[in-house]
Amino acid sequence: MFNSPRFKRQLLEVTERTIVVCDNPNCNYEVPAEASERTLAEKIKDLSFYLNKPCLICGDNLLTEKDFKTYITVQKFVAWLNKYFSWITWFYSDKSWAKRNTICVHTHEGITIDDLSKH
Ligand SMILES: [Zn+2]
Repeated sequence: MFNSPRFKRQLLEVTERTIVVCDNPNCNYEVPAEASERTLAEKIKDLSFYLNKPCLICGDNLLTEKDFKTYITVQKFVAWLNKYFSWITWFYSDKSWAKRNTICVHTHEGITIDDLSKH
């Protein structure tokens, strides 16, 4: 019974298509993530490479220490939520699970959350 996909659901599914994105609004530099499934340790290692490195296009700082720390805090919080609260999703019907929202979370001088389902 516990082999059903229902029991593998996560309260917050995280998809990261990029390792790092330039925060300059006039710049579109980004480094795509090659592996779609990375552990948190791998994500942190990949991201740490860009700490205080200049953007190749505009020269802005790609990742400040503050943003790096915020990223790790958010990731750990999501992992904690998933560990203790994913059981809530067992009670969603397949239909309501399919209609769940997608949000975009951006870490730069705090956290920006954009509800993609309203676009
Ligand atoms: Zn840039």
